[in-house]
Amino acid sequence: APVLKIQDLRSSIEGKEILKGFNLEIKGGEIHAIMGPNGTGKSTLASTLMGHPKYEVQSGSVTLDGEDVLEMGVDERALAGLFLAMQYPSEITGVTNADFLRSAINARRGEGNEISLIKFIRQMEAKMKELEMDPQFMHRYLNEGFSGGEKKRNEILQMMVLEPRIIILDEIDSGLDIDALKVVAAGVNAMRAEDRSFLIITHYQRLLNYIKPDFVHVMMQGRIVKSGGPELAERLEAEGYDWVKAELGIED
Ligand code: ADP
Ligand code: MG
Ligand code: MG
Repeated sequence: APVLKIQDLRSSIEGKEILKGFNLEIKGGEIHAIMGPNGTGKSTLASTLMGHPKYEVQSGSVTLDGEDVLEMGVDERALAGLFLAMQYPSEITGVTNADFLRSAINARRGEGNEISLIKFIRQMEAKMKELEMDPQFMHRYLNEGFSGGEKKRNEILQMMVLEPRIIILDEIDSGLDIDALKVVAAGVNAMRAEDRSFLIITHYQRLLNYIKPDFVHVMMQGRIVKSGGPELAERLEAEGYDWVKAELGIED
């Protein structure tokens, strides 16, 4: 059964239409990769799916197991299992990583079923070890003063602790050196499951050497213009996007 279904989605920011009829269906257990030139609307897609208030949906639909996602608020989407590892994670002063994650977990678990502090700390310590993160990061304000690579690892830490069902990774590979990339990819691969799906946005085929996608899509001018398997990513890496434009008669 389809899990996440996006149909003819149109959305804009500050009156400018960015998503122009975006279609994609992601089933349980699948990994989809989206590649595309800069400014084509990949991050807009991610933010629109998460319900970021800056993005206005004009038309189309998004459903998760038949439930209308566009009707849900930001918190409800997170509770429904949607998760975004952001391209540019924001810094939040006054909220530590541990505070943030514990309240997110407890929101998911519901009142009367909160995770014990000991159990939470053990869980966090274990995940941080997997990600080769300094345990100190638990007590630091969210992303404040983190390097680019630390922010990305921290996004993956959130993913591992929250165990979402639909995981969107927006250029998680940017700012990561090869060793960090392998650590992050191992974290992602450890979370692959029949009832969990991934949407991986990336510029580089390199990441897809470590996280094997089932489908690769090319996004241009606010929609998917071409789909294939991993071989499509390899061709894009080798040849760029011009041949896709030529094939489809797309002009810049
Ligand atoms: P990508 O992630 O594919 O590089 P984005 O979704 O970030 O693309 O951006 C798509 C388009 O939306 C770009 O033309 C960008 O300039 C525009 N855009 C993004 N954020 C804003 C904003 N806050 N205000 C106006 N335009 C924006
Ligand atoms: Mg970009
Ligand atoms: Mg982007």
